[in-house]
Amino acid sequence: MSDSDTQHEVETRCGYVALVGRPNVGKSTLLNHLIHQKISITSRKPQTTRHRILGINTLPDCQCIFVDTPGLHLQKGKALNRVMNDTVISTIKDVDLVLFVVERLTWTEADEKVLRAIQTVKKPVLLLINKVDQISDKAKLLPHIQMLSTLHDFAEVVPVSALGGHNLDTLEALLKPLLPPGPFMFPADQVTDRSSRFMAAELIREKVTRQLGDELPYEITVEIEKYEQDGNVLHVHALILVEKPGQKKILIGKEGERLKSIGSAAREGMELALGSRVMLNLWVKVRSGWSDDNRALQSLGYMD
Ligand code: GDP
Ligand code: MG
Repeated sequence: MSDSDTQHEVETRCGYVALVGRPNVGKSTLLNHLIHQKISITSRKPQTTRHRILGINTLPDCQCIFVDTPGLHLQKGKALNRVMNDTVISTIKDVDLVLFVVERLTWTEADEKVLRAIQTVKKPVLLLINKVDQISDKAKLLPHIQMLSTLHDFAEVVPVSALGGHNLDTLEALLKPLLPPGPFMFPADQVTDRSSRFMAAELIREKVTRQLGDELPYEITVEIEKYEQDGNVLHVHALILVEKPGQKKILIGKEGERLKSIGSAAREGMELALGSRVMLNLWVKVRSGWSDDNRALQSLGYMD
């Protein structure tokens, strides 16, 4: 770069930051708070996040491009799990900084496994202890931080609460110097690389996951068949794909009550996120074996 530097009065920084950690520690919740907008769906169930999602936070002199990843899973085997693990590892290779998220005062075998994956790539790692709001005996936090600090040469160890927004300002300030100097890669007003159509499908999946709790295994997906803005109303037709006829029955519920309630929650979520009135039509369809078939995964957009 032999450009004269006369225009660069402020040195900007810009970089990719991966959010990694086992399922359910709060990565997606954290991302939504860091970019002040809901772009990644969250729930109590593991495997809620299936795709790599970018969330962009632009400050006057710094652009942080967060990459939310699905949790790393111990159980191997099914194609969907394999794709999720591969996504995580290849994501770490591409970023400038890793935010490794753990929760409360726990350190599990799954955390250990994530750390080992991270260590295969030489990148600075910032350790985030999330959900500190749930630690009743705060005196235990410091010794826990000291124990964790012996496991790896972390750039920082920061206790936060993603849900309550506790200490996220501190985190933001710590991130900046860890990013490489350089121009912004995205326009300052862009918050994600995902289309609103993708967000709509994800919101439906979020409501299904939340409302059905443990009744339904992970094997559901959502396909958007129609997505059309007509004046100030957005018309969305969506298919919820399940694996077995029994799952379809559960999803629809008695006299269609379950599906209706999922639909109205999803519609409200879309109206809030997309800023438009929404007419949503939902169908449930059985397409067996999709989560274990690479080709089906590809056609549904789970692989690049
Ligand atoms: P992910 O699988 O790591 O992406 O986790 P999610 O972001 O989906 O969050 C999993 C669950 O933890 C959700 O029910 C969140 O509401 C909850 N959660 C996330 N952050 C916090 C936090 O700081 N405090 C508390 N109490 N709960 C949290
Ligand atoms: Mg997630």
